[in-house]
Amino acid sequence: MSDPCFGEVELAFLGEVIDRQELWRGTRGNFVARLEEAFGQRLGRDYVLGVTSGTCANETALAGLGLEPGDEVICPATAPLFVSMPVVSLGCIPVFAETDPRTLILSPEGIEARVTPKTRAIVVVHLFGQPAPMDEILAVARRHNLKVVEDCAQAYDCYYKARKAGTLGDVVCFSMQQSKHLTSGEGGLVATDDPEVYKRAAMYANCGMPWFQYGLEAPRAEPLAGLRTRGHYTFGHNYRMSELQGAVALAQLGKLDAFNARRREHAAIIESELRGAAAIELPYVYPDTTPNYWFYPVRVPVALGTYSEINYLEVVYQRMQQERRTSVGYPLPDYVQYVPGSCPQAEAAAPRFRNLSVHPSLPSEAVREGARSLREAVQTHCEARGE
Ligand SMILES: *Cc1c(COP(=O)(O)O)cnc(C)c1O
Repeated sequence: MSDPCFGEVELAFLGEVIDRQELWRGTRGNFVARLEEAFGQRLGRDYVLGVTSGTCANETALAGLGLEPGDEVICPATAPLFVSMPVVSLGCIPVFAETDPRTLILSPEGIEARVTPKTRAIVVVHLFGQPAPMDEILAVARRHNLKVVEDCAQAYDCYYKARKAGTLGDVVCFSMQQSKHLTSGEGGLVATDDPEVYKRAAMYANCGMPWFQYGLEAPRAEPLAGLRTRGHYTFGHNYRMSELQGAVALAQLGKLDAFNARRREHAAIIESELRGAAAIELPYVYPDTTPNYWFYPVRVPVALGTYSEINYLEVVYQRMQQERRTSVGYPLPDYVQYVPGSCPQAEAAAPRFRNLSVHPSLPSEAVREGARSLREAVQTHCEARGE
C-alpha cells in the first residue's frame, strides 16, 4: 500500500495560518518560530533559523561564519551543486577536494591536500544520509583553524558515535525540498550553538535586519543626519521562511520518526534483495555510524551507474575556468582549477553509483521490485560481457 505523506495535520496547520491572516513570519509569526524551537530541541542545537530553501540555508550558514570575498571553502567534488553555488554567491572560492570512493564523502586526506593560507571553511556533506567520518575531518579542521559546515540536507537523524550528524560542526544546514526526509515543498534550516553565528546568519537572511529570536539583543536603528533609518546593518538577502512553509514543516516534523522507520524498512528490503549479488556493492558504513538513507546508494558497473554530480564539470564551472574568475567576478588563483582530472578518484568513483529510492510514500513492493530489477540488469550486463 502506498501512503500519502501530507494530509489532515498539514491542512489543519495551514488553516490556522489562513485564520490568522498572517502568511509571513513578520513579527507575529507563529509556525516558523514553533518549527525553529521544536527542530532545535530535537536536533540538540541552541539556535535554529528557518529559510526559504536548502541552498539558501547553505549560503546563510556560510554567511553566519563571517566569510569574506576571496576566502576559500573546501567542498566535496561529488555532491549536488547546491553545495558549492552558495560559496560563489558569497564571493568566496569553492575548492573541490577528493572524496572517498566508497561513499563519495569528503576524505580527510582530500581536505588536507587542498588547504592553503586562504582556506577558511569546509563544507562536509553527509551524502545520501551517510554520516561522514567526523573525528578525522574535525582533526584536520582544528589543525588548520578551519570552520566546519555540516550539510545535512540529505541527513536527518543520522548518528556519528552516538551524536547526531548536525551537532558536530560549527554550523549545520538542512534542506526541506520535496524529496528530503523533512519537507515543506521548498524550505531550509540553519542551526548552531554559537549566538554570533546565529545573529550573522539571521541578519544575512533578512537583508541585514536584526530580527533575532531567543531573546538576543538587537541593535536599534539610529537616525543619520537627522533622518530616520530602517536598520539594515549588513548585506543580505530576503530568505525568510513563510508561515505556509512553517506550518507544513511543523506538521511533517511530527511524522519524521514514522518516515524514518519507513525509510529503514525500505533500506532493509533493498539490502536483503541485493546482498551477495555479483558486481553490486552495498553502501559502505563508517565505523560507529548509523545512516538514515535519503536514497540508498549502491555501486554497480559503470555502464549501469547513474550518479552525475561532479561539480566542476558543469558548464557554469567551465565558464569560470575559462574566465579565471567566479560568476560574481572574484579572480581565481592559479592553483584553483576546474578541469577534468582535478579529482581523479572522485571522477572514477561517482559514475559507479546508483541510488535507489527509499521514500516513505513508496509501497514496499515497489522498493522490492526496483531492487530486483537492478539485480537482474547487473546480472544480464555481466553475462553479456562474459564476467
Ligand atoms: C537538496 C540539497 C541542497 C539544497 O537544497 P534545496 O532545498 O534543494 O535548495 C543542498 N545540499 C544538499 C546535499 C542537498 O541534497
